Amino acid sequence: MLDKIVIANRGEIALRILRACREMGVKTVAAYSMADRELMHVRLADESVCIGPAASADSYLNIPAIISAAEVTDAVAIHPGYGFLAENADFAERVESSGFKFIGPSAEVIRLMGDKVSAIRQMRAAEVPCVPGSDGPLTDDAETNLKLAADLGYPVIVKAAGGGGGRGMRVAHGEGTLLNAVSLTRAEAKSAFGNDTVYLEKFLERPRHIEFQILADQHGNVVHLGERDCSMQRRHQKVVEEAPAPQITEKLRRRIGERCVEACKRIGYRGAGTFEFLYQDAEFYFIEMNTRIQVEHPITELITGVDIVKEQLRVAAGEPLSVRQKDIHISGHAIECRINAEHPTSFAPSPGRISQYHAPSGPGVRVDSHVYSGYTVPPHYDSMIGKLIVHAGDRRTAIRRMQGALSEIVINGIHTNVALHNRIIGDAAFQAGATDIHYLEKKLGD
Ligand code: ADP
Repeated sequence: MLDKIVIANRGEIALRILRACREMGVKTVAAYSMADRELMHVRLADESVCIGPAASADSYLNIPAIISAAEVTDAVAIHPGYGFLAENADFAERVESSGFKFIGPSAEVIRLMGDKVSAIRQMRAAEVPCVPGSDGPLTDDAETNLKLAADLGYPVIVKAAGGGGGRGMRVAHGEGTLLNAVSLTRAEAKSAFGNDTVYLEKFLERPRHIEFQILADQHGNVVHLGERDCSMQRRHQKVVEEAPAPQITEKLRRRIGERCVEACKRIGYRGAGTFEFLYQDAEFYFIEMNTRIQVEHPITELITGVDIVKEQLRVAAGEPLSVRQKDIHISGHAIECRINAEHPTSFAPSPGRISQYHAPSGPGVRVDSHVYSGYTVPPHYDSMIGKLIVHAGDRRTAIRRMQGALSEIVINGIHTNVALHNRIIGDAAFQAGATDIHYLEKKLGD
């Protein structure tokens, strides 16, 4: 096993990684910013190194400082968590060229899947279903682009190959707006991502967001852990996730899961990864791959019994996965609510001191959070302060269990979105299942 690793992240995911390390006998180094001295995992880690000032650019995105933290502590590997540098191929490359293991896929694979045009090409080759589209970058030839869009049928969406975080996309509803959408998206992509490659896809009007979790080791073993439904979103940010996805049959799960496994084998994938799909009218359409651990990984852990972070550590140590596809069975239903420090109606961030904190508990309740009474949420980072996760034998019971857990939670001193979660979990359409990605914004009147 790995002897010692640097956790190059903060908040709940840093604590989650630390917990997995402890169980596996891996020593930990918390690399933290000056605003994060009070973080729970910094207290619990075997060692800690301050990597810079509060601003992410100077700390959690500061590549030389993170690599130095590994050097001065004699660590052997770096776990990037999610966000920050987790999908930065240059970082992965520099970690490896400095003599450390990057806990994730190779820099080459991160780069390949980070470019959406090359990712889609790989997926098509592995027969993963993709959104009908331009099958490659658009040129500047107006006539060709108009013909492509007409063949797909409006509305279409122009997307940047290097886009991310819901940016670099524009919908065109007819030929009057297509050419303008192409040039605007191209200009925006060039300035935001330094890459003006754009491509075209059919715009799906009421899809659900369903994603598949996979794990791969360096010995040719690849498994899928089924899917998650993350359709409850606001401004492209997931708010509630559940697994398995309502109305997805075992047969369909197996068919898409097998295609994802095949794609991983093709590209030489290593570690944990997620294939994101839009799902509409009983068809799956690949949109992108995330080459890292995801916020919502616990719901998959609860329905499969597989510890995804421990598997990441195993794979990085060169060990085989601890599970085979035949060992993976989906049991019951899990739901996750992302608890954010934000105003319940304006959604403005609400940093500050948590004067009182009480976490829900009981059978089938899991809370992944770094906060405690007296902790001050700093204003510099993402507003998520924890995840409330429940698991039960069926979806109906999981919903009830989540309602009970939400009623137990106490977070005083700052605003949170707990009231929003109560509304969502109590909503008749959510309870019926299979709402689309626009449902929450419509409900909120955004
Ligand atoms: P990002 O990397 O910015 O997250 P994605 O390709 O994952 O970009 O797309 C983000 C979101 O944009 C999707 O979850 C979906 O809401 C919307 N979207 C992307 N492609 C399409 C499409 N072809 N049709 C409809 N909506 C889309």
